[in-house]
Amino acid sequence: MAEDDAQGALTARSPQETHDPIIRFSNVTKEFTNRDSKEPFRALDGIDLSIDEGDIYGIIGYSGAGKSTLVRMINALERPTSGSVTVLGTEVTGLSESKLRPLRQKIGMVFQQFNLFSTRTVAQNIAYPLQLDHWRKDYQDRRVSKLLEFVGLSEHADKYPAQLSGGQKQRVGIARALATSPRILLADEATSALDPETTSEVLQLLRRANAELGVTIVLITHQMNVVRQIANRVAVMSNGHIVESGDVYDVFAAPQQPITRRFIGTAISGLPDAAHIDSLRARWPGRIITVLVRQREVPAGDGRPAVGASGQNISELIARHHLASGLIYGGMDTVDGAAIGALTYEFDDTQDRFGQFLDELTRTNDIIDFGTAADPRTPQAWKE
Ligand code: ADP
Repeated sequence: MAEDDAQGALTARSPQETHDPIIRFSNVTKEFTNRDSKEPFRALDGIDLSIDEGDIYGIIGYSGAGKSTLVRMINALERPTSGSVTVLGTEVTGLSESKLRPLRQKIGMVFQQFNLFSTRTVAQNIAYPLQLDHWRKDYQDRRVSKLLEFVGLSEHADKYPAQLSGGQKQRVGIARALATSPRILLADEATSALDPETTSEVLQLLRRANAELGVTIVLITHQMNVVRQIANRVAVMSNGHIVESGDVYDVFAAPQQPITRRFIGTAISGLPDAAHIDSLRARWPGRIITVLVRQREVPAGDGRPAVGASGQNISELIARHHLASGLIYGGMDTVDGAAIGALTYEFDDTQDRFGQFLDELTRTNDIIDFGTAADPRTPQAWKE
């Protein structure tokens, strides 16, 4: 046990010298045998994934995509059928249970249903991993008290889980997961049972664990909003494959796959859907044009071409061409510190300068032209 641990202090870890990923999946496949048909079923197929120390890595996908199976391989609760999984420099694929124990101590887990002991107090729940690790009682007490402080539950130390709200229970879950100073925290749908406000509080706490304690976080979720709020990297999973991955801003700003666009649609406001467009057309007879807003450009990489910024010069263009216009729909969100969203305008397209304006708008921005109520258009990019 390190000296600082003995004092119970929570200390930040400086990143390791090496630039090897802290977690690496190489061509990992997992087959389950269906009990009835005896046919093998591929839950994971050719997974390549690298997670760097200090990342908050979001893994998003619908139910059944393979997310839990993937994450359970990090602490070897699940073994690959083929391929290799390396964690903290150790190839875990063939390790025996006894050799796995020290590795598992460096990996904390947080669950959707909290998994707290109902007959133990908050403090006793948090102390549990320290008991398993045979810490001296006075060291345990000091450590638990620091952890309670970190998660803001010092006054609730002697309560039982049933006396806590969902958000408080999850904070106990996080404190327990951090008890043995793990290097990696696996969060499996950790906020899925919580309301949006409590979700934000719990995400805030996970972000502090990452920033202040240097814990790498792997976060499984089906909520793109969770990824938007906290992750710096994201992988989108579908049918046992990673279909798209990269920096969160890049994936949000320039999604390549239809499934990624669907997820992003749930987390980014301002993009009108078919029903919105119908109701806008009913109210506004003019030309309806949506301008995508992307504050930063996206460099090429992760199988994605370079994509420029968009929506940065609309007001200036409208003013310069002396156009009459109305802003009729829109919204903006912040992803990794930069704005992403969409603004929808109505223009009278019979105005003199409209053609010239539209040329320049199209050259310097990503737009979706929905036509007019009398002459509607359904652009390809929007149909997907
Ligand atoms: P997710 O976490 O994305 O919901 P899972 O990793 O739990 O997905 O599951 C992926 C697929 O693998 C699902 O079709 C699931 O039914 C199947 N699966 C998971 N675990 C087992 C198992 N132990 N035996 C058989 N099939 C399994």
